[in-house]
Amino acid sequence: MIKISRIGNIFKNRTKQFFKNGTKKLGKKLLVYFSPYLIPIGIVFLLAFVVYAGYMAIYIQLTGGQGSSGATITYLSNTPQDKQYRDWVESAIGPKYKYADDPNTDDFNVSDMWVKGDGTDSQSSGGLSPEEAKAKLKEAEEQSQSEGYSHIDPKTFLGHSKEFLDVYNRDEEIALTFGQVYTFVVYENGSLGREITQDLVKKVAKDIHPTFKYTKRLKIVVVSSKDSSTTYYYWQYKLDEADTILGHFKYHYSIVSNTTTSGSGDHAITITTTEWQPTDTEIVGDRWNRINKYLKTEFKVTDNSLPIDRQGILEGFQGFDENQQRIEWLARNGFDDEPFDFVSCMSIPPQYREIIEEASKKYHIPTWFIAAVIMRESSFNWLSVSSADARGLMQITPATFASHVGKVNNAFGTSYTLNDIYDPRANILVGTEIWAEYLSQQFGSVDNVDWKGDGWIQQTLEAGFKYNAGPYAKYNQSIALDYMEPIWEYAKKFKATSYAAGSLPVEGTITSMFGWRSDPFGGGQEYHSGIDIACNIGTPVHSVSDGKVLYAGSCSGYGNIVVVRDSMYNYLYAHLSEINVKTGDMVKIGDIVGLSGNEGRSTGPHLHFGISKITGDNWNTSWIDPLSVLNK
Ligand SMILES: [Zn+2]
Repeated sequence: MIKISRIGNIFKNRTKQFFKNGTKKLGKKLLVYFSPYLIPIGIVFLLAFVVYAGYMAIYIQLTGGQGSSGATITYLSNTPQDKQYRDWVESAIGPKYKYADDPNTDDFNVSDMWVKGDGTDSQSSGGLSPEEAKAKLKEAEEQSQSEGYSHIDPKTFLGHSKEFLDVYNRDEEIALTFGQVYTFVVYENGSLGREITQDLVKKVAKDIHPTFKYTKRLKIVVVSSKDSSTTYYYWQYKLDEADTILGHFKYHYSIVSNTTTSGSGDHAITITTTEWQPTDTEIVGDRWNRINKYLKTEFKVTDNSLPIDRQGILEGFQGFDENQQRIEWLARNGFDDEPFDFVSCMSIPPQYREIIEEASKKYHIPTWFIAAVIMRESSFNWLSVSSADARGLMQITPATFASHVGKVNNAFGTSYTLNDIYDPRANILVGTEIWAEYLSQQFGSVDNVDWKGDGWIQQTLEAGFKYNAGPYAKYNQSIALDYMEPIWEYAKKFKATSYAAGSLPVEGTITSMFGWRSDPFGGGQEYHSGIDIACNIGTPVHSVSDGKVLYAGSCSGYGNIVVVRDSMYNYLYAHLSEINVKTGDMVKIGDIVGLSGNEGRSTGPHLHFGISKITGDNWNTSWIDPLSVLNK
């Protein structure tokens, strides 16, 4: 018993220390800031320390396992020992930044990759109709289907070292995290009394490493201006399957064509994109098969204590990760500003926009409102699980899902079951259906809500309470407000920044796409981290998002740059001839951040425009295709 309370105390002290340090500096703002994240991050984050410690203690008590047996269980502070653990884990899961080529890393994250399909980027003058494009996409897909997958060595693949391949970065999203490895290491230490060594860290990373399967898929983009059309063929890896410690997932696609127009009159540019877009995500078997098996074989966990141990482990994953990644970033960048300044329609991940529109059309709830609920519930993390077992993007409990999924199946002709609860489409359709039901009960019809004016703000309060607390909970105004106020703020921002925005940042012609291309300076293939838009020197460059200027100044290779960050992405505007903003400024969609130029490593007057995901404090990593974010 002494040993048990010792572990508990270590965790408790660390927790106290963290919150003391945190709240001293941030005061009430901390709570205001985290309230939008309370379900996926805040509560889980708290639980990660308090409950996890409890679970560990319970676990040890139940199994009669060893306590800390002299080893130290540390939450990651800044001691040299903590730094050592961090280094070991990072070296086992691979370099944090792409292109890093450290021969000393094991990189279990990319050690098991399988790919099929092949093709080289090219372009030709003249347009292609969407039908012709679709036929070409199908043909390429059949070709790769007949070839099957082959295992690749990421160290030599594409002549490049170690990196994730999925164009939407979904592999990186579900790849092994620091928190996953570290949680199991701590668990081994606490429950089996194993000393924390680099070998133990490696063993755990190897045991729980993911397997990824991809197809290199054709995407066809036709760019037309008044005088000419160009067809671009480019090839992108899209994830087919991922077997991870968080579940075994299969990703399904269908061919979709989208057309957008930028500029007007003689300057209008039409972009038609035809590509395989993600539709359903399937979970193969029970989501927890792999983690259950690991807990049973490695830790001899019994069927009885499996749920509670697994929950503790999951809380640990999230707790360690959020602290390390998101909270660090928020602490540095978010607290002095109004948190909602970081939110714009660009915060809605492109792969969910079609689904949100589909739900909106059927249930008459505006897209900006549905998106706000998702932001509040899961921060668009489709794998979210709350401590109350609410799951997926809209945080629905299995019981609620089960009682509403039939209505969705009737309305959409789908055949979803409880197994599909995490599926983004199933989850969003069911969540929206629930909202529509509560609003209709109150107002007779969803259409009687004043979505055009500001009436919706107060009108959604009661339905929001029901959605959050369940239909039978006794109404409580202050709980309802706690839940709904962040949703209102998000919704106002999404509404104001027009959900369907997506203009290019300058008027010009796209001359180079995102992804692999022939290096314009010779020297084989290079990775192009954004798109190039040719335009005259001095053309105004508009911000495509609200956000904060993370950096304005010069940067090697890019010339003069402006980097804007919002709640979801970093936006890079490079090769500028003039910069109009300062580091730290807040900008709105459409604001002019600078003038285009011809600076840096550049082949002609153009704007290099890139979008990267926020994965740490470095903006120069995790690039994604800007057109996939803009094209809607
Ligand atoms: Zn470029």
